[in-house]
This record gives sequence, structure tokens and C-alpha cells, in this order.
Amino acid sequence: MTRIAPGLAGIPTEVDVVVVGLGITGAGVALDAVTRGLSVLAVDAHDLAFGTSRWSSKLVHGGLRYLAQGQFAIAHESAVERGILMQVTAPHLVHALPMLTPVNDAMPRSRTALTWAGLHGGDVLRRTARTSARTLPRPRRLNATEALNLAPALRADTLRGGYLAWDGQLEDDARLVTTVARTAASYGAEVRTRARVTSATGTAVELRDELTGEAHRVSAKAVVNATGVWAGDLDDRVRLRPSRGTHLVLRGSALPETRVAVMVPIPGSRARFAMVLPQPDGTIYVGLTDEPVTGPVPDVPVPSEGEIDFLLDVVATAFATPPTRDDVVGAFAGLRPLLEVADTDETSDLSRRHAVLTSPAGVTTVVGGKLTTYRRMAEDAVDAVVASTGLAADPCRTATVPLLGAASAEELRHSTAPARLVRRFGTDADLVLATAREVTRLPDDELLAPASDLVPVTLAELVFAITHEGAHDVDDLLDRRTRVGLVAADRAAAEPLARRALEIVATTSQPNAHG
Ligand SMILES: Cc1cc2nc3c(=O)[nH]c(=O)nc-3n(C[C@H](O)[C@H](O)[C@H](O)COP(=O)(O)OP(=O)(O)OC[C@H]3O[C@@H](n4cnc5c(N)ncnc54)[C@H](O)[C@@H]3O)c2cc1C
Repeated sequence: MTRIAPGLAGIPTEVDVVVVGLGITGAGVALDAVTRGLSVLAVDAHDLAFGTSRWSSKLVHGGLRYLAQGQFAIAHESAVERGILMQVTAPHLVHALPMLTPVNDAMPRSRTALTWAGLHGGDVLRRTARTSARTLPRPRRLNATEALNLAPALRADTLRGGYLAWDGQLEDDARLVTTVARTAASYGAEVRTRARVTSATGTAVELRDELTGEAHRVSAKAVVNATGVWAGDLDDRVRLRPSRGTHLVLRGSALPETRVAVMVPIPGSRARFAMVLPQPDGTIYVGLTDEPVTGPVPDVPVPSEGEIDFLLDVVATAFATPPTRDDVVGAFAGLRPLLEVADTDETSDLSRRHAVLTSPAGVTTVVGGKLTTYRRMAEDAVDAVVASTGLAADPCRTATVPLLGAASAEELRHSTAPARLVRRFGTDADLVLATAREVTRLPDDELLAPASDLVPVTLAELVFAITHEGAHDVDDLLDRRTRVGLVAADRAAAEPLARRALEIVATTSQPNAHG
């Protein structure tokens, strides 16, 4: 039986590949390896998506920014991976996001020309990656009335018009990680949380069960270190220069009827923008900063007051009634796992490309990159271990292996399951509801009722998170399987429902029995 479970009880003592870390990179490596026919144990010291992968902007981007920096190979790679996610592997979790760059009197002509040229460059990337214009429409110019229709909260007095372009937006970053991990488990990978690797070589890992404190040893033909900003702990030759990125969380009502993402030029910079990003759950994120970080890597990074002020100041330049401190209902920060590069002090200049490195002890580290390119990172890492160990493995298949629940928007439109579940689970929405019915014996109106007026989370998805997604406690449920935890007040409102789900599953069924 395949499963995602907390702790190390019953793990195999020998596998082909041990994957350390279950952010998007480790989950991707587990899926890549298991679909090539290798036996896999994948572990995380905390939980699925505990690290950087849950603090992103939730964009699946086509690499426009890299194009601007002249990094054509990485820009093309991003655009290709975006197309695979949106058209083949995860169309249920990634949708097209319209992004508006307002043009106003204060914007120099040189900057508007550069922005328009950049958006065209992005469209060329889309075409060379063979992503259809039905998936991501071509950019176009808008007049001031059209721009205001899409974002009525913009400052109208100085607005001259805008540019509308499209990129990919995730339903949620942690949901992508969970879905990749569950897909890996469905192919036979053993996926464990609360399982810390305390030391590793290329042929074995020592593990500690964080629930019981028990030590375990597992032999392997290959060990892949996918621990992101913590990668240096398992291979001290890996040097990272983490940079912190902060987002604010606002209620939708703070910038009413903002139906598109808004790119707000950062005053004084040539090509940098702050982003106003409406989320599927009705909140709005405002991001993003880029601050070098030194010293020990914290488990959960914290935004600084300066970053919060900076983001509010930039956004204030574009909106008629700008959000204030009182509108900030949450804020979160993540650390980018950037590889150290000689001769640069600016973290924004460090390469975003991933690297695969093998330590003298034989541990293969895969680090850098981003959510968008996780599949390619995993392919490169597994290619490297196959080449160095001689493991008999099939060629990489993940460009054509749909994640669980995958279906096109057109197919999902015909689903009769509740809309929220379809958005988060695709065709598995029916399985989520059927599982909740079977486990709880409660009526649908109780299983599907939102936790509160402002919190759309349902009991059905919390139960499924425990039975199928390895959720072990309230934090897993509220901070990773759902993202209620991004707003403290919402978290408090949803906590009783999470406790209820844990109690029901504990008393009525065998958790994790479904794979
Ligand atoms: C602010 C910000 C915004 C971003 N926005 C985007 C975006 O919009 N789009 C995009 O494509 N990319 C984005 N990125 C980049 C992307 O989020 C990261 O590149 C990616 O999430 C890194 O994933 P990872 O799996 O390598 O690391 P992580 O997600 O950090 O995973 C590492 C895991 O390893 C575990 N671990 C550590 N040590 C051990 C151990 N000893 N034993 C077991 N487990 C261990 C940790 O608990 C953790 O879960 C953004 C990054 C930041 C910081």
C-alpha cells in the first residue's frame, strides 16, 4: 500500500533513492524517480511544503525577468515548464492570470517603451515554448477606460492607459507540492513527514523520527539532497546566499473589484515592479522584496517592518485610496535558495538557475531554480544519479504524467462537484467528498459549509488532508494543506473545524489507509 504518513514506522531499510526534503524540489524528484521504475523513500523533517515552497508569489512564470537580464536559456526553460504545467500536468492547479501594468503621467516614455518591448519578448518566449494563445493570450495595449474597468481602484487622474499581459497563477503553492507528493505516492513512493535526515552519504542516511525520537538507518543506491536553503547542512560545500522575499496579505475589500494582477513600477528603478496579486480565496497579496539575509536560517522567516512600509509605499503610487497598515491582515516571508556566485553583492543579480552538485561522500544536491521549473530540476537530478550510480532506470516521463486530479478547464467546467473542491483537487473533488462522507457519515451541507464568512475552508477537505495527504495536526491542516494560517484572525476562526476533523478521523477510521 502506498501512502503519505508522519513518522518512520514500517519504512523499508533499503531503497534505490532516498529524497531528503519535501518542498517542490524533493516532491518533484520523488515523482520523477518513482515513475522511472525506481523504489523511493522521500522524507521531510517537518511537513510537506514546510520551507520556501509555501512562501512564494504563487506564479508559474514564463521567464520574462530572465529575458530582461539576458539569461535566454533559463527564460526559455521557464516558458517550456510553464506550458507543461498549464497544458499537460497540472491544468487544474494553474490558471491564466491577467496582469495589468498601468501607464501614468509619471512614467517616463523610455520606461513604457521598455515595458512594452519586454511583454512582447515574453510573448515570443510563449510561442517558442509552443504554449497556445488560448492558454495564454497575447499582450495588448489598453486605454485608460479599459484599464479602469479591470482595476477600478487605480488612480484615475494620472492614468493614461495600460498594458495587459498573461502569465500562470497557482491555486496555491503548497497545494502543488501536496499534489506532486500524492502523485508520487500513488506510483509507489514511500512519503514520510516528521522524518529528519541527520546525516547522509551517497549510499545511506541516518534518520530521526521526530514523533518518537527513534533513530533509523536506510541504505540506498543514491541520496538526493533537496533541502533548499538548508542544503548546506547535508553538504557543507554547498554555499547559499539566501534572499528574503516578503508579501503582504490584504482583504479583497482593500482594493475593491481588482480583477487582475497589477504591476506597479518601483519608483527609481528601470525594470522592477511590485505586484498586486488577487488570490482565488478572495484575498490580495502585495509583493515582493529582495533582501539579502545572513546568519542562521530560521525555520519560519519573518517580514521586517521596513519591507511592509516599502510595499505599502510603492502600491500607494498607483491606487486612488491606497491600502494602509490597518488593511494588512497578514504578511509572510520566504528565503530564496540562491547559489553563491563570485563577484556580486546584489542578491537580485544572483542566478535563479538550478544546479545539481555531487559531494565527495556521494550525496547529490539539487538546489536553486523555482517552483515553475521543479520538473526540469527533478529530471536533471535523477539523470545525474542514474549516470553516476548506473541504476537501471527508464527515461524521464514526467513531462507527460498528469498530476492527480488533472483535467482541462473545459472538462472541469462540467464537474458537478462543489466549485471550491474542483479548484483545489480537479477531478479528485469527487473523491474528496466521497471520502469525507464515508469517514464522517455527516450530511453534505455540514461537510461543505465554509468555516466562516471570510474563510472558505470546508470540513470535507480537512478530512481528506488527514486521510490522503498525511496531515498530522492543526498546523499541517491550516498552514499547509490549506492556507488559512496566512491571516491570523482566519486561522483562529478555522481552528475548531480543524480540531473537529482530526477528532473525527481519529475515532472513526484508519488514517492514511487510502494512498
Ligand atoms: C518570496 C519568494 C517568492 C517566490 N515566488 C515564486 C513564484 O512565484 N514562482 C516560482 O516559480 N518560484 C518562486 N519562488 C521560488 C520558489 O519558491 C523556490 O525556488 C522553491 O520553493 C524552493 O523549493 P525547494 O523544494 O528547493 O525548497 P523548500 O521548499 O525550502 O523545501 C526544503 C524542505 O527540506 C526540508 N528539510 C530541510 N532539512 C531537512 C533534513 N535534514 N531532513 C529532512 N528534511 C529537511 C524542509 O523542512 C523543507 O520542507 C519564490 C521564492 C521566494 C522566497
